[in-house]
Amino acid sequence: MSDEPTAARAPSGTHDVLWPESSRWEALLATFAGLVEAAGYGLAHTPLFEDVKVFRRGIGEGSDVVGKEMYEFQDRGGRTLALRPEGTAPIVRAYVQHRPPLPWKAWYATPAFRYERPQAGRYRQHHQLGVEALGPEDPDLDVEVIGLAHGLFSALGLTDYTLKLNSMGDAECRPAYIELLRSYLAERRDELCPEHQERLEANPLRVLDCKREACRKATADAPRLVDHLCGPCREHFDRVQTGLEALNIPYELDHRLVRGFDYYTRTTFEFASQALDAAQNSIGGGGRYDGLVEMLGGPATPGIGFGIGIERVLLACDAEGVFSVSPPVLDAYVVDVAGGESARDLTAELRCAGLRADRAFDGRSMKSQLKSADKSGARLALIVGPDEVAVGTVSVRPLRGEGTQQTVSRTEVVDVVRRAAQ
Ligand SMILES: [Zn+2]
Ligand SMILES: [Zn+2]
Repeated sequence: MSDEPTAARAPSGTHDVLWPESSRWEALLATFAGLVEAAGYGLAHTPLFEDVKVFRRGIGEGSDVVGKEMYEFQDRGGRTLALRPEGTAPIVRAYVQHRPPLPWKAWYATPAFRYERPQAGRYRQHHQLGVEALGPEDPDLDVEVIGLAHGLFSALGLTDYTLKLNSMGDAECRPAYIELLRSYLAERRDELCPEHQERLEANPLRVLDCKREACRKATADAPRLVDHLCGPCREHFDRVQTGLEALNIPYELDHRLVRGFDYYTRTTFEFASQALDAAQNSIGGGGRYDGLVEMLGGPATPGIGFGIGIERVLLACDAEGVFSVSPPVLDAYVVDVAGGESARDLTAELRCAGLRADRAFDGRSMKSQLKSADKSGARLALIVGPDEVAVGTVSVRPLRGEGTQQTVSRTEVVDVVRRAAQ
């Protein structure tokens, strides 16, 4: 047996995002931040772990995310905590705790943790972008929020996706609808998939979004919640649709788009990419949760938001061949074979002037430093040898495209690099 340690690896279901792929993440975040901040949303950072109750109440005890997939643990003080499996509950918890003035509009970018079976586009640590808007009940806010997600996808260049829209009703109209659906499905129990034959009573809404052929057939002509909305829910839903049409945001009504918990109300939506496999084509989704603030111990406060999976969106971009980002190039690479002082001081000057500059270390040979300069992708090599130091000059050698090497006074070299960078 060897005593050599085995090479360390990232845990199963996680992945590293390294340069240059990470520059695409930066660009995605910057695009999203630009869009949502232009609409009055402010960045919120909340802890990666919370009291487990935040998620048990905030997402629902019976969901797979909370029941089977959450990273739950006891800390050394005996508290039961959980790594966040999604972004909404922590933001709502922060609202309940700090009570910022309403309307409160927040955005976030965060890792989310779920103990899932690792597969393409699905990770145990994945990453989400999202917004939450608390306060207004106004359907025009729903349009704003949906428009922000749509705006991001368009800005990335995606075109092959659909927006699916539904209304979950509210405490006025939904219970009666659920009874109607329950009795409709009870008469067809034998036609349902085995899981839903058993679990029909617990939550008949879940049968609607069951992916199995049996349930899909049995529910094809089932009563639809949108046909049983009360007056105010009907008006709200109509206004959302009018707003989307006014802003030229195409959508499809989808009565199978349901969320199984009481605090989800009215508008619910999902963006599906046709460029991805049908089983995992959701690139983002969200909806109203007018009961959630109360569930977490705050005053009754309406809210709406969405979450967008970064990995999934980038897969969709790859599938459509859009949003390729070239990482920024270095403006200059300093090659110093005269002791290193020039490399030290000149790179510092260039960086102070807002230019991108790098250098070699460890007193390597001219040949080796020039090789690194070339590999770095820099536009210019700034070469300093004993001759240059003696007369106070720098040799400026273009590494890309046309141009010949010139000798420039040491005092002017930063300006020369700046002009070349423009
Ligand atoms: Zn089923
Ligand atoms: Zn209603």
